[in-house]
Amino acid sequence: MPKPAKMLEQRIDHFFSMPAERADRWRDVVAAARAWSVGRADQNAAEAAFAELGPIEGFHAFPGSALMARLSDRLRGGDAVGFTDLVRRVSAAIVTRDFKYDPAEWRTTEEVVDTPADVLPPTLRHGDAKRPYFEMLIVAPGATTQAADQIAQLRNLRRPEDAFIYEIVPVDSFEDAICAAIINPDIAAVTIFEGFNYASRHSAPVLRSVLSGLGLDGARAEDADLALLLANSLKRLRPDLDIYLLSDRQVENLAGDARSASIRRVLYAIEEPLELHLSVLEGIQDRFETPFFDNLKRYARRPISTFHALPLARGKSVFKSDWIRDMGEFYGINLFLAESSATTGGLDSLLEPTGNIKRAQEMAARAFGADHAFFVTNGTSTSNKMVHQAIVAPGDIVILDRNCHKSHHYGLVLAGGQPLYVDAFPMTEYSMYGAVPLRSIKKALLDLKAEGRLDRVKMVDLTNCTFDGHIYNTRRVMEECLAIKPDLVFLWDEAWFGFARFSPVLRPRTAMGAAAAIETWIHGLAAVEAYEKQQQELGSDPTVDELLTTRLLPDPRKVRIRVYQTNSTHKSMSALRQGSMVLVKDVDFYTVESQFHEAIFTHASTSPNQQLIGSLDVARRQMELEGYGLVLNAIEISLAIRRAVNSHPIISKYFHMLGADGMIPAQYRESGFVDFLAPDTTWASQVRSMHDDEFCLDPTRMTLVCGTAGFDGTEFKALLANVYDIQLNKTSRNSVLLQSNINNTRSDVAQLVRVLLEISNGIETRLARGGDGERNALAARVKSLMTDVPDLPNFSHFHEAFRQDAGRATPEGDMRTAFYGAYDATGCEYIPLHGDECNRRLREGPEMVSANFVIPYPPGFPIMVPGQVITEETIEFMRKLDVKEIHGYEKARGLKLLKPEVISTKLRH
Ligand SMILES: *Cc1c(COP(=O)(O)O)cnc(C)c1O
Repeated sequence: MPKPAKMLEQRIDHFFSMPAERADRWRDVVAAARAWSVGRADQNAAEAAFAELGPIEGFHAFPGSALMARLSDRLRGGDAVGFTDLVRRVSAAIVTRDFKYDPAEWRTTEEVVDTPADVLPPTLRHGDAKRPYFEMLIVAPGATTQAADQIAQLRNLRRPEDAFIYEIVPVDSFEDAICAAIINPDIAAVTIFEGFNYASRHSAPVLRSVLSGLGLDGARAEDADLALLLANSLKRLRPDLDIYLLSDRQVENLAGDARSASIRRVLYAIEEPLELHLSVLEGIQDRFETPFFDNLKRYARRPISTFHALPLARGKSVFKSDWIRDMGEFYGINLFLAESSATTGGLDSLLEPTGNIKRAQEMAARAFGADHAFFVTNGTSTSNKMVHQAIVAPGDIVILDRNCHKSHHYGLVLAGGQPLYVDAFPMTEYSMYGAVPLRSIKKALLDLKAEGRLDRVKMVDLTNCTFDGHIYNTRRVMEECLAIKPDLVFLWDEAWFGFARFSPVLRPRTAMGAAAAIETWIHGLAAVEAYEKQQQELGSDPTVDELLTTRLLPDPRKVRIRVYQTNSTHKSMSALRQGSMVLVKDVDFYTVESQFHEAIFTHASTSPNQQLIGSLDVARRQMELEGYGLVLNAIEISLAIRRAVNSHPIISKYFHMLGADGMIPAQYRESGFVDFLAPDTTWASQVRSMHDDEFCLDPTRMTLVCGTAGFDGTEFKALLANVYDIQLNKTSRNSVLLQSNINNTRSDVAQLVRVLLEISNGIETRLARGGDGERNALAARVKSLMTDVPDLPNFSHFHEAFRQDAGRATPEGDMRTAFYGAYDATGCEYIPLHGDECNRRLREGPEMVSANFVIPYPPGFPIMVPGQVITEETIEFMRKLDVKEIHGYEKARGLKLLKPEVISTKLRH
């Protein structure tokens, strides 16, 4: 009986670190084998290590059952040298991934020696070039016992002209199929034969808790349509998978069954296997294709004379020049061959796409679960302004987080929308803000409703996740807001979070993931009933407090799902800087479509960069083909870093990484979840937290507290950059933010830990040599950084002059009028931040009203907006602020204010 493998352990970090641990386990087998072969250890140790590999090997094509059997034979037969030799090679191939390209890796040494390459059966040839490699999961009754035949049969179908190459992973149960899809990122296609079992041959408690957490445990052995259920479950887990069903039922009927929507193709079980082979390759091709980029490459190859205004195109002005040739040598010729200002030659127009850009955008919409996707080549700064302009008309109210990226605030100035700022919970200790509690958003809506002004609210606009990693419960936020106003539009700024689509754990918390879930819910049978029941419980006249404490359900018959997401594709995926997307899932998009295009025309450059568009196309291809594994890896790395820092005996004396409990107050972790690495965290609790809690932490965004080592954030960032070549981009008074992404490897973890250890050892040495004096100095520094922290100012309020049509109970304001008020220089004055004049005005008035945005970096959000009354808290914060870069504030002149006499002319009489 197979021994339960490590994957079956409850700890969630084990689950994420499966690939790395797999390699580690193979390394252990190699070590045990070596010891055995030189007589340092006995066969039992090798057998034990080999057994540790466990059932998860069965979820990978390589080494596969044949090589595993060979290994097992040598082991049992006492062939220490033969076993060691083979185990060493297999282990190396798993680490280097050479098995993808080298068919020799799939055979034993004797087979390689005995079989000259030219007599190798074609079935084993992987081909000449490095064709992209993937694995196909086959779920079939008896699949594991008949694996060898099936593998041979499918390998036989390989043709030299196939663009991709694949190997088979056979399993024979529902549970094993899910398991394989979760832990093997190479799986890109699944073929299901009917008649397989439900239960795994292995005992799999963790798998079962994951299944139940994902709502996939509805299936039972007795289910008539286990095949359809499996298809749907796999698709929910990994929407990227192509699923084929081989059935001997009436294929026509099955194809018409709504539940078969997740199946790419249904084939007769008796049909030619070649048909399956071709379908599978076509499915991959469908994702591999990058319509714009493919054409750009073709374009670059053609001889073209240009008479348009882009001298750089084709590179002649560069390569013929004595003076700028190095630019050409640096970037290479293709950059210039692929440059054009034309929209002919099949290059299409980003502003009004009809050809391959249109197709590329449609494919992006598919990949990200949206109805429409729009490529933007000026960053999410522009994407946000586009959405604001498209949706918001002058006077409309937008509920937003004051800590939103500045593009939202500027977007509102341009569109003339009135911001109703809601405050995020403060994390004063670390000088940063969290996210906005849902209660505050509901309160704002209910206040507007009480004043009969709900119709003025157009949009709720939030950042998901925040810079520091707070993830909203997007579904709950939207459902509860829609319960108050069923046609609200949502803008989710997911600048950092685009990658989350490709993690089954994070996806439900993305804008598009939640929108899809709500859509499913409103069309389900139980929705109306649940809504009616809640209405009854609430009665005809619920109090505001009841509404605030109830998890409100919207009326499924009235809800309009109108969701916009913006993401900086360049921040979390392989797009060039400024590559961004707007994703739209809006049932009423047709009502705003022409405005949306106007917004594109307003903001998009008429000379969009071809390489940027190409990179957006390619980033989509990558995520659709390997995003699942890349994101899994990014999460794994972040967990490894968290674990390494927090458990290191020396590093953890001076530094620590904030867990979910350090980043999110307990009241927002309703499930009781503590942290990914807390000792009693299980998969079930992790999944429950992701489902229920108001806020979760994105594990890939790691706040490292450095104030406890005596460094302020800026100083520590500079130290890492200048001395250790480690770059990061955000700091707070006493912390820095590290992030892992699809680009990181295990060696980055090792490097970071090494550096932190070196710095910690430096402190230890200093303290040891410096005695009490040194210790006191450090303690004082730590106290100043960690304890004497400035309070974080909330948004104060708009001056009454800019609230002419505002409600009494709600704080929105006409920021645009204030903003343009400052265009009359004679109407503005400057007051030094540190002088008596400032103090006197605070004490005696008249009130100081900001003429512009004041945005300190970090934290990067406006602590003053035009029309805002400046209060003592804001001044205190500004005075304590120890950052150099403050946009909108000239130190020499002071705060820029609107003069009281100008303001009074704007007041209501
Ligand atoms: C970076 C960022 C933006 C702006 O995106 P760019 O692609 O840099 O223009 C917008 N919102 C948030 C939350 C961001 O972090």
